[in-house]
Amino acid sequence: MKTFFAEVIVPLHLNGTFTYRVPQEYNDTVRVGQRVVVQFGSKRLYSAIVRRISEEVPAYSVKYILSLLDEEPILDERELRFWEWIAGYYMSCLGDVMTVALPNAFRLASESAVSIHPDFTGELSDLTDKEMQVVQLLADHPVMTVDDISRAIGLAKMMPLLDTMIEREIIVMDEELRERFKPRCSAFVSIGEGFRTPQQLKETLDRLESKASTRKQVDVLLKYLQLSGNGAEPVARRLLFRTDDGFPVSDSAYRTLLRNGVLVQEERTESRIESYESTTSPDTIVLNDEQQAAYDYLSRCDRPVALLHGVTSSGKTEVYIKLIDQAVQQGQQVLFLLPEIALTAQIINRLRKYFGDKVGVYHSRFSVSQRAEVWQRTRTSDPDTGFQILLGARSAVFLPFRNLGLVIVDEEHDTSYKQSDPAPRYNGRDAAIYLARLWNARTVLGSATPCIETYFNAKQGKYGLVEMKKRFGGLGLPEVLCVDMKEDHDDATHLSKFLADHIRQAVENHEQVILFQNRRGFSLRIECDNCHWTPRCQHCDVSLVYHKSTNSLRCHYCGYSIPVPDQCPACHSHHLSTKGIGTERIEDDLEILFPKARVARLDLDSTLQKNRYIEIINDFQDRNIDILVGTQMVTKGLDFDHVSVVGIISADNLIHFPDFRAFERAFQQMTQVSGRAGRHGHQGKVIIQTFNPYHQAIRNVIDHDYNAMYLSQITERRVFRYPPYFRLIDITLKHRDRDLLNEAADQLAAQLRQLFDKRVVGPEYPSVTRIRGLYLKKILLRFEQGEAIADAKRITADIVNRLTADKRLRPLQVHFDVDPQ
Ligand code: ADP
Ligand code: ZN
Ligand code: ZN
Repeated sequence: MKTFFAEVIVPLHLNGTFTYRVPQEYNDTVRVGQRVVVQFGSKRLYSAIVRRISEEVPAYSVKYILSLLDEEPILDERELRFWEWIAGYYMSCLGDVMTVALPNAFRLASESAVSIHPDFTGELSDLTDKEMQVVQLLADHPVMTVDDISRAIGLAKMMPLLDTMIEREIIVMDEELRERFKPRCSAFVSIGEGFRTPQQLKETLDRLESKASTRKQVDVLLKYLQLSGNGAEPVARRLLFRTDDGFPVSDSAYRTLLRNGVLVQEERTESRIESYESTTSPDTIVLNDEQQAAYDYLSRCDRPVALLHGVTSSGKTEVYIKLIDQAVQQGQQVLFLLPEIALTAQIINRLRKYFGDKVGVYHSRFSVSQRAEVWQRTRTSDPDTGFQILLGARSAVFLPFRNLGLVIVDEEHDTSYKQSDPAPRYNGRDAAIYLARLWNARTVLGSATPCIETYFNAKQGKYGLVEMKKRFGGLGLPEVLCVDMKEDHDDATHLSKFLADHIRQAVENHEQVILFQNRRGFSLRIECDNCHWTPRCQHCDVSLVYHKSTNSLRCHYCGYSIPVPDQCPACHSHHLSTKGIGTERIEDDLEILFPKARVARLDLDSTLQKNRYIEIINDFQDRNIDILVGTQMVTKGLDFDHVSVVGIISADNLIHFPDFRAFERAFQQMTQVSGRAGRHGHQGKVIIQTFNPYHQAIRNVIDHDYNAMYLSQITERRVFRYPPYFRLIDITLKHRDRDLLNEAADQLAAQLRQLFDKRVVGPEYPSVTRIRGLYLKKILLRFEQGEAIADAKRITADIVNRLTADKRLRPLQVHFDVDPQ
C-alpha cells in the first residue's frame, strides 16, 4: 500500500503549509481542496485545506490527518492559486487568506465556541448520557469552547460526539461551524388531502372538538392553521412545537393527526435565503445615447479591464444591468462588487427586479449558515438553485465561481475596498482584477470620481476608458456654492447663516437635506479653560472624544471610555469646554435651530445596532426624516429623490489631512456627497463651508472638474514619488517597549537600506504613535514602476522573519501593507 502525505493550509497566521500523513483508509478519497481535521500544536484541532498530496516522505516525523470533512473538494486549483496570489502579493500568510476566504462554517478549531441550537426544543428523548451532559452544561453556560467542554466532561475526544450533536441540530458550533456544507433539511407539516377545504376543515374540527379524548388534536390543528395562514403553506415542524409562544402542543396528538392523514409531514430543504422573482426584463431598459455608447464600448472593449467614468446619476447601473444581462445570456457568472454592504439594499432591489433569483448576495452581516449556502449556490450548476450574479463586498472575490465571465467593481475609488486590518490587507478591487484574469473574464470599474491610479491606467491605455458626462434625464449637475467661514461663521452652531437659510427653506418646501461632517461624537475633545488640560486615552496617543448621548469620553482607536469629569483634575477648575465638532453636536444644534424638522444621524455610533442603518436609510427614503447628518456614510452611492440641499460642514477637515491622497480624497468625498443632491427633475444645491474658499480641491468640486483635479495630482505624484509612478509598501512595527521598538526599527531600516538604498524611507513615528498600548513606528518602501517588486517583497519578508525571531526583541509585531490606502 502506498503512503501519502498532504500539505495543508491551517487557518493561522503562520507562513507556508504543513505536512501530515494521510491515514491509509483515506488513500482513495483524499483530494486537493478538501477540508481535513488536523491537530496543530499539542492539542489544538483545526480544519485545514489540502493543498498538495505527494508520496515524498518528509524528513521529519509528522502527525496523521484525523479525519476528512468533505467528500468533494470545496476549492479547486484556480481558487487555491488565487489564495496564493493574495498571500504573496499582499505579503501575508495562506492561513490569513483562509480566514477571510472561507465562511466560518467551514473552519473548525478546538477554541471554537459551541452553543445550543436555537431550534432545539429539548423534545428529543433519545439523548445519550454524554449528550445530556453537554446539553445541561450548555444550558448553564450558553457559550463554551470545545476545549472547555472536553475539560468539564472529562472526555478527551470531544469532536466526534459534538459532531453528531451538530448533525442532529442539537448544538451549533461557532455558529454552525461544522455544518457539512449542505442545505439543511427539516420536517415540514402541511394539511392532508381530503381535509383542505374550509368545509372539510370545519367538519374535522367539530368532530375532534366533540370528544374530550380528541380535544388536544384541536389545539395542534389550530396552531398549525394559525402558523400556516389557514393552511396556505407548509410550516416547519419545530415552529409547531415551540413552547415559548405560550401554546404548547401535544406530541401524541400530533402523531394521531399524522396517522389519520389530517396532517402530513415531509422533509424539505429549508432555504435560508429568501427567494425573489424578476418582474421586468432588462430588454425594457432604454439606454440614452451616452449610455448606449458606453455599453457598446464596454461590451466590445479589447482590454481586459475598462473604466466607466460617469458623473453621479449618469445611470451607470443601467449600463451594468445590460452588461450583466449579456453575460448571463452567455451562461457566464457575474461578480458585482460594492465597497460596503450597507449600500446593497438599493442595488439588490434594482438587480432583483431584472434577474430575480439569479442574484446571490454575500456579506458579513449574514449568518454563518446563510453564507455557507451562498457559497454552495455559487458553486452549483443546477439552474434552479445556482446563482449567476453574485453581489457582495470585497470578500465576495473568494466565492467558488464555476464560470466567471464578468466582474463589475462599482465605486471603484472607495477606500473600503481595502482591508486595513487584519492581514491579508488586500484591495478587493485589485484582487477582483486578478481573479478576472485567472478566468479570462472582463472587468468593468465604475466611478464618478475614479481613483488616480485607475484613471492613470486608463489614460495610459492599459485600461479601456469610456465617459458619461451628463446626468440621466437631462438633470443638471448640482450647483456647488462655497461659504467663507471667515465671514459668515456662527460659533454657537457652526452653521453659516447661508447654509442655515438654505436648510430652513428646504424644510419649509418639504424637501430633504443631507449634512456631511467627517467626525463622529459631540466634540473632538474637551479642554480646561484655565490650564488647557485635555483628557487623553490611557492606551493610545490621542485625546478622547466627547459623546454627549452617553456622557462619556471615548477613544476612537481602542474603545477606552471614561465618564466626563466635572472638574479639571489638574487645576480643579469647573470650566471645561468642548473643542471641535462632530455629527452628534450638529444633530443637537439642528434640533435647536429647526425644532420642527425631523433630524437623524447616520454614523458608526447610530448604526451599531443591527439593521439600524437600513432603518435610517429607509426612513429617509420614505421622507420620515427631513435632515440627515452623517459621516462619510452619507456620501456613498445612495439614491434619494427629494434631496435639494447638501451641506459640507467642514471641508477643511478633509483637505488638511496628513496624507498624499488628501487632495484626491477630499475631492472624491465632496463630489460624491454632492451627487446626492437633486434627482427627479430638480438640480439641487451643495453648500461647502470652509475657511479656504480658494483651495484648489474646492474649486475643482465647484467646477465639477475631475480632470483638473487629476492633472494637478498626477504631477505631484510624479514629483513626490508616489503612486501610480511608485509602488508603496508600508511596514509597521509595534512593541510595548519604546526602546526595543526603536532598536528593531533602526535595525530593520538599516538592513533594508543596504539592499534597497534610497527606496527606504524612515523609520518614523506615525501621526498616532501609540495604539492599544503598543508603540508604532513605520518604514516606507517605495519602488519605481517596473522594478522587480515580487523579489523585493520576498527578501523583505525574510529579513522581517529573522528580526521577529530574535528572542530579545519579542514580542515585536511587524505588519505589511502593500499598496496602502
Ligand atoms: P449612477 O449610478 O451613475 O449615479 P444611477 O444608475 O443611480 O446613476 O441612475 C440615476 C437614476 O436614473 C436612477 O434612478 C436610474 O433608475 C435612472 N436611470 C438611469 N438610466 C436610465 C434609463 N436608461 N432608463 C430609465 N431610468 C434610468
Ligand atoms: Zn485645568
Ligand atoms: Zn485608546
